[in-house]
Amino acid sequence: MAIQVADLEFLRGQLETRREKLQQAVARSQTANLVQLLEQVDKALEKVDTGTFGVCEDCHGTVETSRLIADPLAQVCLDCLKPSEQRALEQDLALAARIQAGLLPQQDLKASGWRVSYHYEPAGLVSGDYCDIVQHDRDLYFMVGDVSGKGVAASMLMANLHAMFRVLIPSGLPLPQLVERANRIFSDSTLPGQYATLIVGRARECGEVELCNGGHLPPIHLAATGVNTLYSSALPVGMFHDQEFLSTQVNFSPGDSLVIYTDGFTESAAHDGSEYGDKRLGRLLEPFHGYDSRQLVDACVRDLQSFRAGPQRVDDQTLVVLKFAPVQH
Ligand SMILES: [Zn+2]
Repeated sequence: MAIQVADLEFLRGQLETRREKLQQAVARSQTANLVQLLEQVDKALEKVDTGTFGVCEDCHGTVETSRLIADPLAQVCLDCLKPSEQRALEQDLALAARIQAGLLPQQDLKASGWRVSYHYEPAGLVSGDYCDIVQHDRDLYFMVGDVSGKGVAASMLMANLHAMFRVLIPSGLPLPQLVERANRIFSDSTLPGQYATLIVGRARECGEVELCNGGHLPPIHLAATGVNTLYSSALPVGMFHDQEFLSTQVNFSPGDSLVIYTDGFTESAAHDGSEYGDKRLGRLLEPFHGYDSRQLVDACVRDLQSFRAGPQRVDDQTLVVLKFAPVQH
């Protein structure tokens, strides 16, 4: 897959900024390293002009865009790295995975009259799925999202979202404004073409749930009367700077659960190519009203595993269950 035009223009800008900085540095002190770097930047810019930027110098395949964004001077694709370079990269990835695992919320959390459990499984070492729970002022904020792209670049955006909401939530803004502000910050800090589908919600002690859905798959409300799909959706976060977000409210009764998932969960395919799908998930959940959030998560994961009947996994998978279980007085 060739580099997209928007990414190429971004990379050209990065290279030009670097050349400017290098020229200033070389003017002050002409070390061999600086001169060599300047030559490499010039060569890369020449390749941008001649349309050969991002072509692997060894196999003539394509250098991965996410790696070029991290290092616009990368000249070979992942497969053509020397063994020592591959080892260094693997160590970096393992570190990134450890950092990401540290960003996950507490498992089987009990707070504000709710029980929250989740399943979070990256397709590779790191995930582009985002999942966080924050308690503020007796309310429980929950965020579940899916960042465009894969691998390290997507995991960096995920960490970006994580930090942003952790900072924004204590401001006490109404939910739509909270998401609008997050959208503006996210739009300013990402590349064109990078965005995230995202559900941001607030669960209250009385069972009231407010939801803002930015282009994410609709969550499921598991009530005593059956399963309801909570449709309502705006565009993903990061697409347009001045987008408006609206919220919807749903009242939960004791024993009800809210189930949120990423497409890696419902778009998992069986070996005949059929997709797991939200209908199967809904049917599975129906008899489980009143069950604990942990039991619900486990039941869903077991069912998905038996459906897939194989170890292959192509996308990051996340499933979050919030059960309304108020303390009885
Ligand atoms: Zn190559």
